[in-house]
Amino acid sequence: MKRSLNIRGLSAGIEGKRILEGLDLEVKTGEIHALMGPNGSGKSTLANVLAGNPAYVVSGGSVDLDGEDFLALSASERALRGLYLAFQYPVEIPGVTVGRFLKRALELRQVPADTATDSGPRTSDPRAREGGLSMGDYVKRLREAMAYMEMDQAFINRYLNQGFSGGEKKRMEILQMLMLKPSIAILDEVDSGLDIDALKVVAKGVNRLRGEGFGALLVTHYQRILDEVAPDFVHVMYKGKIVLSGGPELVGELERRGYDWVAELAGDDNRRNAIVDDGRDGVESGAPIGAFVTVAGGAS
Ligand code: ADP
Ligand code: MG
Repeated sequence: MKRSLNIRGLSAGIEGKRILEGLDLEVKTGEIHALMGPNGSGKSTLANVLAGNPAYVVSGGSVDLDGEDFLALSASERALRGLYLAFQYPVEIPGVTVGRFLKRALELRQVPADTATDSGPRTSDPRAREGGLSMGDYVKRLREAMAYMEMDQAFINRYLNQGFSGGEKKRMEILQMLMLKPSIAILDEVDSGLDIDALKVVAKGVNRLRGEGFGALLVTHYQRILDEVAPDFVHVMYKGKIVLSGGPELVGELERRGYDWVAELAGDDNRRNAIVDDGRDGVESGAPIGAFVTVAGGAS
């Protein structure tokens, strides 16, 4: 069955500041959507709001997954229903090893070993789903996924993201995704700061899940990753909404004409000010992350 994340007229912000201004977007399984747009247009805010980061306040519109009101659910509940967010700035979690973190996350989501990626949880009570994974099976799957992501197996015993390089953190985000097999993934600049080899590995990870049971919203500034992970749809975000949508041809068009063109299309006279980088192009590191840690449930 196709699954569908449906965003209608979404307005949201933080600390009294409105960032999303009536955004519409639908992402279905089987589809890869690229989301582009200048710094500060609200891409990471959208990712955080969809994932249920409690630091953000929704002031209008709706988000549903297969008709179920998503905004009423906690971050953990959203993850259990098959949503995954790869952070632009992955958080370091000292004291929790990669191995323990992923095992706990998998037990909570109970991802079957070799079924389609659109398998959801079997019951809604996390406690009922614990312990369904043998250590042997788990380690085998983890090692296989790590080999695929060309990551050293020694990472299993390291604390999550602690002291990881930028590229290692991004690989880790994709490794988690490969293990958890979400139905819908939001990948927030998983390509930023990567050299070309690391970029290829990250793209390979996304392409591995690509198929009927998997949909993704790939937030990026660059054409490079879209050469590896060909998007079905491309959207351009500007000042809190999607101002332009199209097919893959839009990527080259943007590359040629720049975001000034987008500002122009959006009818923005103050575009010079609007697209100056404000020097802080994301908030994940500053926003409360408690809810996200409980998603994986392994932080204890
Ligand atoms: P993008 O990911 O497209 O670069 P963001 O969603 O990170 O954009 O940010 C959108 C706007 O919201 C920016 O102007 C940013 O400075 C602002 N913003 C985001 N988070 C906060 C916050 N915690 N406090 C104040 N302003 C914020
Ligand atoms: Mg961002």
